[in-house]
Amino acid sequence: MERLREEIRKHDYLYYVKGEPIISDYEYDQLYRRLLDLEKEYPELITPDSPSQRVGGAPLEGFETVAHDPPMLSLDNAYDEGEVQAWETRLRKALGRKIEYMAETKIDGVAISLEYEDGLLVRGSTRGDGYTGDDITANLKTIHDIPLRLNNAPRGHLEVRGEVYMTREGLARLNKKREAEGLPLFANPRNAAAGTLKLLDPREVAKRQLHAWLYYLISRVPGVETQEKALEALERWGFQVNPQRRLCRNLDELFRFYREVEAVRENLPYNIDGLVVKVNDLRAQEVLGATAKAPRWAIAFKFKAEQATTKVESIEWSVGRAGSITPVANLSPVLLAGTTVKRAGLFNPERVAELDVREGDTVIVEKAGDIIPYIREVNYALRPAGVKPAKPPTKCPACGSPLVKEAGVVGLFCRNWECPIQVRGRLELWASRGAMDIEGLGEKVAGVLYKELGVRDPGDLYFLKPGCLASLRGFGELSESNLLRAIEKSKEKGLSRVLYGLGIPNVGSETAALLANHFGSIDKLLAASREEIDEIPGIGEKVAYEVYNFFRRKEVKNLIAKLKKAGVKLEEVAKEVVGPWTGLTFVITGTLPSMSREEAHEAIRARGGKPMDSVSSKTSYLIVGESPGSKLGKAEKLGVKIITAAEFEAMLAKTPVP
Ligand SMILES: [Zn+2]
Repeated sequence: MERLREEIRKHDYLYYVKGEPIISDYEYDQLYRRLLDLEKEYPELITPDSPSQRVGGAPLEGFETVAHDPPMLSLDNAYDEGEVQAWETRLRKALGRKIEYMAETKIDGVAISLEYEDGLLVRGSTRGDGYTGDDITANLKTIHDIPLRLNNAPRGHLEVRGEVYMTREGLARLNKKREAEGLPLFANPRNAAAGTLKLLDPREVAKRQLHAWLYYLISRVPGVETQEKALEALERWGFQVNPQRRLCRNLDELFRFYREVEAVRENLPYNIDGLVVKVNDLRAQEVLGATAKAPRWAIAFKFKAEQATTKVESIEWSVGRAGSITPVANLSPVLLAGTTVKRAGLFNPERVAELDVREGDTVIVEKAGDIIPYIREVNYALRPAGVKPAKPPTKCPACGSPLVKEAGVVGLFCRNWECPIQVRGRLELWASRGAMDIEGLGEKVAGVLYKELGVRDPGDLYFLKPGCLASLRGFGELSESNLLRAIEKSKEKGLSRVLYGLGIPNVGSETAALLANHFGSIDKLLAASREEIDEIPGIGEKVAYEVYNFFRRKEVKNLIAKLKKAGVKLEEVAKEVVGPWTGLTFVITGTLPSMSREEAHEAIRARGGKPMDSVSSKTSYLIVGESPGSKLGKAEKLGVKIITAAEFEAMLAKTPVP
């Protein structure tokens, strides 16, 4: 079994870290399945560093707090060579000798701390405020760059710090998905990485493909006397270490490295914003110590931000698919980081007011590795006389309805159900591949359906009559019959797809699946209270609020009625999970101390097991909680295996969710 695990670890490394798999996905699946089978048969042999433990476990309620000792400080910045020279002068005064530097490129990510006991990962945490952070071990375990077990590392406690990051390509992929789901986009890879690490559902984290570099060995290890040696040791133990690093014997060498890296930074798959320069000798680091804010022995030597000065020609307010009003500044074209920029995002009316940006203003736009350039600052001194503050519209630019400001929510919204942009967006989302998968219903067709045939929501699609489209310009009989057939076929997609396709704010495909599996039918969901929705593991308070409110709208009720009348399937048969407990049945009697019965049932189902209400000779396990009922006696009589709540929890902890 350990040999098999070792084999899988090797292939994981080649696939996820090196990107050079040497076996096919199919062969890999076979290996992985064999491991799961063995672990199912011998659950007592599952080790915490088994590759099967990487897949994210059940969602968390919240994060525990972790204290950082020593604190995770930030770094002082230097913006030019002069500032670096001034830093060296201070160092020399304190140390009285020549200094060597270890320079590494500064990845634009999120700082983390990892702790190992006897080579096993026991805890991972965020930086937080530097003194205490959040315990995000479950999320960090899903990152393949982070070893669960170290190779030949020293025994005892070992702490290592580093950075979690997302590649630009990873961000583009994630944003594309979020855009399709009507979720807000991440402005840059750092925000995306930070947002991902804070998710309470490790399974979602696992999908987002984060990476990690480790660069700071906190524990003292014999034979490791320099930062250079520390990085080599980290690499040997199995960590990913920044490949772009250089030992510099003096500042000239350092400045040369800086210029070399700055010239190629755009070609790297991830964002860097400078160099981190450290005094190489660890003893010298100790002598220098730290201020309350930052260590004295390290500095962030930043690249110049990519900025340009230009003029705001106009401020445009448009309405998005979900009805939110989005301001954009149209700029006099300007060259920035190799591309011509004509527009800058202003995000929401609140941001416009805060910046006080006006038409005709001279502004500095910045693109610090971000996807969308944004306005960094306004040069108020150059403002032409008599320019009025930018005012958000009071009416929707698409439909003229009065806009609504909701208490406690950033932004301004058009709440007109028939707003053309929103109708078209709604139809497109409904037809998208992740939802009802209606081929041929794209932006253009959605526009025609809205304008020519009075389609106002997805429900109307199911009442289109043959011939109604064929007469329209650009539509042949063939394309009409194909479209109608695709619409007909979509009726069978099931509740999870329907819920996703409805475009409920903040409900992506994963949340839609959670809701569908939990309630099983739209009627049960409609009858659920806000609290009931909130209690579903993996669904937060905010989402519960949105879901509940969405179904209270009369237009939505009307839409659901149309879907019902058309015979669209609004149920979901809970998916049979194949997992380590497939074939096992569980019955619970009494109350479990640490989870509700519903949670226990879900945990069993998630592992492929079947929760049952009554004991029979076929029951595999009876779980006995506090004040058990008559089921206990019956199980004893039938010879069913009886386990305590604590034993059940231990089984859960040892059995991964497939
Ligand atoms: Zn509107």
